Amino acid sequence: MRKPIIAGNWKMNLTPVEGAALVEGIWKEIAGQDAVEAVVCPPFVDIPAVAAAIEKGSMSIGLGAQNMHWSESGAFTGEVSPTMLLALGVGYVIIGHSERRQLFGETDQGVNRKVGSAIDHGLVPIMCCGETLKQREAGQTEDVVTNQVKCGFFELPRDKAAASVIAYEPIWAIGTGKAATPADADEVCGLVRRTVGELYDDDLAEGMRVQYGGSVSPSNVDELMSMPNIDGALVGGASLKAPDFARLVKFS
Ligand code: PEP
Repeated sequence: MRKPIIAGNWKMNLTPVEGAALVEGIWKEIAGQDAVEAVVCPPFVDIPAVAAAIEKGSMSIGLGAQNMHWSESGAFTGEVSPTMLLALGVGYVIIGHSERRQLFGETDQGVNRKVGSAIDHGLVPIMCCGETLKQREAGQTEDVVTNQVKCGFFELPRDKAAASVIAYEPIWAIGTGKAATPADADEVCGLVRRTVGELYDDDLAEGMRVQYGGSVSPSNVDELMSMPNIDGALVGGASLKAPDFARLVKFS
């Protein structure tokens, strides 16, 4: 009943022309499938070209951004607003990726404002959470992840939260080639779901999609996606190659 969602985070890669070519390459391999929600999240400047390619090819591929500001406009040099994203046909936005938290000083409070603003504007937030290796080794995974989920949804009403996606991405697994084991990933995705259940209720938690992210590849996607609490993947490296990303969407 939870439709799987596989989202590609292109990070700071590809020009607009390359991005359009990638989405065309992906579509060639997944055209016709509608069992899985496939989403691409290009850099901001690539969005118009990728949106045009999606429209031209009548592709059922979702378009996402990698970040946004919570305000609609204002003196925020270098930022992009939810209304600007909507004007380009964006439907999803990654919020609180660990690279933004670690490299750009994004805080739990900022993540909370962005999640709320995304929902208010009709964008689907893909809110990221996940522990560092040090935190995992210190036995703090549960506390860290629970806290990030609680902060991300702080004071957000139930009807708004229901449309969100949460991505559990252990930081030590991102870009390292060392994915979490399916059992470990499932355990923490289950914890995320229980935390949502405590914040709201079981119905909402059962309906919410929780992705795993961290070195997901064609060789491990089937096993990860077979786990009961994993409803999709947030993918970096493997989302930049059409055959690999298409294979993830076509997991079995
Ligand atoms: C990511 O950046 O969200 C990610 C999961 O990257 P990778 O798939 O390359 O580990």
